[in-house]
Amino acid sequence: MAETRNRVDPGQPRPIHVDVLIVGAGISGIGSAYHLQQQCPGKSYAILEAKPTFGGTWETHKYPGVRSDSDLYTFGYRFKPWVGAPIASGAEILKYMGEVIEENEIGVHIHYGHRITACHWSSTTNRWTIEAVRASDGAAVTFTAGFLWMCQGYYDHEKPYIPDWPGLSNYEGQFIHAQLWDPAIDYAGKRILVIGSGATAATIVPAFAEKAAHVTMLQRSPTYFYCSENRNELADRLREVGIDEPTVHRVVRAQIMHDQDLMTRRCQSEPDAVFEDLKALIRAYSGDPDFVFEPHFTPKYRPWQQRLAFCPDGDIFKAATQGKLTVVTDMIDHFTATGVRTAGGEAIEADIIVAATGFNLSVMGGIPFDIDGAPVDWAQTITYRGMMMTGVPNLTWVMGYFRASWTLRVDMMGDFVCNLLNHMDDIGAKRVEVALRPEDEGMQILPWIEEDNFNPGYLMRGLDAMPRRGDKPEWRHNQDYWAEKDAFPRIDLRGAEFVYDGERPALSARTGTEIAA
Ligand SMILES: Cc1cc2nc3c(=O)[nH]c(=O)nc-3n(C[C@H](O)[C@H](O)[C@H](O)COP(=O)(O)OP(=O)(O)OC[C@H]3O[C@@H](n4cnc5c(N)ncnc54)[C@H](O)[C@@H]3O)c2cc1C
Repeated sequence: MAETRNRVDPGQPRPIHVDVLIVGAGISGIGSAYHLQQQCPGKSYAILEAKPTFGGTWETHKYPGVRSDSDLYTFGYRFKPWVGAPIASGAEILKYMGEVIEENEIGVHIHYGHRITACHWSSTTNRWTIEAVRASDGAAVTFTAGFLWMCQGYYDHEKPYIPDWPGLSNYEGQFIHAQLWDPAIDYAGKRILVIGSGATAATIVPAFAEKAAHVTMLQRSPTYFYCSENRNELADRLREVGIDEPTVHRVVRAQIMHDQDLMTRRCQSEPDAVFEDLKALIRAYSGDPDFVFEPHFTPKYRPWQQRLAFCPDGDIFKAATQGKLTVVTDMIDHFTATGVRTAGGEAIEADIIVAATGFNLSVMGGIPFDIDGAPVDWAQTITYRGMMMTGVPNLTWVMGYFRASWTLRVDMMGDFVCNLLNHMDDIGAKRVEVALRPEDEGMQILPWIEEDNFNPGYLMRGLDAMPRRGDKPEWRHNQDYWAEKDAFPRIDLRGAEFVYDGERPALSARTGTEIAA
């Protein structure tokens, strides 16, 4: 258990000051708090969370069947063994997070129902002032912090992405976005239309199919699916022979990451062969050796350019072969009173329409930031390894992996941020920021991510608002866990890219050759 440190007393006069303020009590914020407690035991901290409880993504999404599509051996933290089946329900993930909070006494640091509305940096005090609104009474409350650890995720939890469909208001049935699904909705015996084909649709469709009269999945374009049993043979075997859970966790994590790495490389080197393997699994799990892939299950992009949708026990394909699911690949032309009409002229009737159309990207939770009164435009900054941004002092942003489990990066960033904080203490620095080095002069400045590497809709729609990257490993979030796991521990905090208590570096953050996004 972590030793006692300066706890924030909610009764003390405002503003409350902490060494570190963590934004968000999702899986990133809770993991970051754990690392801070363990690795910087002398630091006081608080977590501000807009919602009334922890969980973030896993609290927001309440649609039928909500579950991870990563295995929990890698989506779980490195420090807390996962003891269940690899793919977990939202409820199981919340339970796991709740245990982490309780076992490490993190709860006393969390201020629920506190939505941050602005963050101001002062170079005079070397502190952030954080303004928040308290949900319980609407009061404006102020915190100050030496360091901001941004764990607010990457999308707007309140406003999901709904395309501007013609005639939506004419629809007389029940229309809802999956992100806003209310568990009280009774869908038994109803005709349901799910619009979308990504990971959310892959989860929700088989769950609906169990009780609905019929489910139609209308997709603009097909997705790759990976069918597998929801069990890990190695974990089962290790448990059978009496291996302790921490060891099972460590070994199975290593196995899964190794296999995923192989898969990622194969997706790039032999995408066609990978697709044939995925098809063989679908045939096996659906029970239909003649399963027809054209046109609904033959994507236009390479496997892994977007997340591979996991399909436990081939559930979505079983629903299709049992006649409970119809897939339509077409564009929506317009909504009618009873459903939608596609561009191809097909009329789809539905009692409930569920949009599984994704997110609105939210950079830094949409919170306005300023530095000594000058507003921060994130698109004018350059990212240091997807963690810090040029010209923005004492702030890190936890952005996980899209292709590997998000949380792998939460743990690694925990080490990085704690090393940085401890290093600042060692050298007596109150302020750190990243800045381009002389050798970065002339570096190409590019959009946050390469479109041909990873291109989900929400990222592409919001790319203009994201920080930029350079073409060197230090200045990009490369989405490669295997490269970063070796690179991160070797980061030299005395490197020229870190400026401590310094004058603004001579080389401006905007130095570089601007190229069109
Ligand atoms: C349905 C779904 C399934 C997913 N499955 C997987 C998976 O299997 N594997 C995987 O790796 N990734 C998955 N992801 C991606 C997932 O979002 C991340 O893995 C991870 O949960 C993000 O955690 P987070 O803590 O960084 O952010 P979030 O979960 O988004 O939590 C951020 C928290 O910050 C709070 N917050 C935001 N702004 C403010 C503010 N202004 N003031 C105060 N609080 C604020 C929010 O209320 C929220 O609680 C999935 C995403 C979705 C939507």
